[in-house]
Amino acid sequence: MNILVTGGAGYIGSHTCVALLEAGHTVIVADNLCNSKAETIDKIKQITNKEITFYQIDVTNEKALDTIFSDNLIDGIIHFAGLKAVGESVEKPLEYYYNNLVSTMVLSKACRKYGVKNFVFSSSATVYGDNTVPFVETIKLMPTTNPYGETKAMSERILTDIAKANPDWAVVLLRYFNPVGAHECGLIGEAPNGTPNNLMPYITKVAKGELKKLRIFGNDYPTVDGTGVRDYIHVMDLAEGHVAALNNLTEGVHIYNLGTGQGTSVLQLVKAFEEANAIEVPYEVVERRPGDIAACYADTSKASIELQCVAKRDLLAMCRDAWRFEKESLGRKDEN
Ligand code: NAD
Ligand code: UDP
Repeated sequence: MNILVTGGAGYIGSHTCVALLEAGHTVIVADNLCNSKAETIDKIKQITNKEITFYQIDVTNEKALDTIFSDNLIDGIIHFAGLKAVGESVEKPLEYYYNNLVSTMVLSKACRKYGVKNFVFSSSATVYGDNTVPFVETIKLMPTTNPYGETKAMSERILTDIAKANPDWAVVLLRYFNPVGAHECGLIGEAPNGTPNNLMPYITKVAKGELKKLRIFGNDYPTVDGTGVRDYIHVMDLAEGHVAALNNLTEGVHIYNLGTGQGTSVLQLVKAFEEANAIEVPYEVVERRPGDIAACYADTSKASIELQCVAKRDLLAMCRDAWRFEKESLGRKDEN
């Protein structure tokens, strides 16, 4: 298939481009590089030895999309492009609602105009809010507490209504848990600008000596050791989940969790990282981070049964690959 990948230069998008190209699909990337770099496109080509068509455009720009859809015969789209920092979304709600919602709507309009009926959307486990674990796709979503989460829930709603009105569309809503790690070759990975907010990139910076110690946000949660529990999934397993979704496109709306089904605490992840890489990660326990929940992990039955999609890479592989990318990224421009 010819797949338009929005946000394909970003963290999850770039790994998915690799998985798509390796599965024999043709990839067209649309990315405005607001949180990524053009070099990543070259790295994807280097890893796969395949070509990619790249458009540096904003996907809220209808005219720019017209060019892409008229230049290419697109069979389906995977929409990753979006702003994703929860904290920033509280400070810049308008930017988040505009970018994340308008992109979804303008892309849907372009799909309708050019007869593209296959739409895969990057959603998030954040739509479940503070529910009872494991999260199964059918539970009632809890109101989220930040604009970022709202944009995911609203985009899901918009796409669901569009699919209802257009029964020949296949809409797949993929709810990601916590993607970590990097491609095994160390060429592409997660390279957040500035000090990382997320746990794994923070750990790798501490391991590298760029940050002094990890701050563990709370050890008084009702979890195995008191620290927060999340479902970490290797980014290549997540990427391959998109290939599985494309292999199983059917009309209607289909929602899948993409996680491992395993909950891991902050302390367990620190320990796994230290063991996988034989390196120490100094830490201190501090106050809980506002808005955090105790535990978040997936019920993965639906994706495993309907998509035959099961995460293959374990926690040690996630830690090893995250660290390899961090070590090999010396000299990257965005490092501080
Ligand atoms: P990322 O920031 O690395 O990638 C997003 C890409 O989209 C970037 O390359 C950015 O330049 C591009 N982009 C943003 N707005 C754009 C626009 N208007 N036009 C064109 N390009 C634009 O983020 P990621 O971690 O790869 O996340 C990809 C998607 O998955 C996002 O929608 C995110 O909300 C969702 N998601 C991510 C996580 C996570 O933990 N990383 C978890 C759940 C869901
Ligand atoms: N966390 C932490 N220190 C950090 C970053 C995160 O203790 O510097 C904890 C956080 O409280 C949560 C877990 O690690 O329990 C995962 O946080 P992350 O921000 O990576 O993902 P999310 O909260 O979005 O699931």
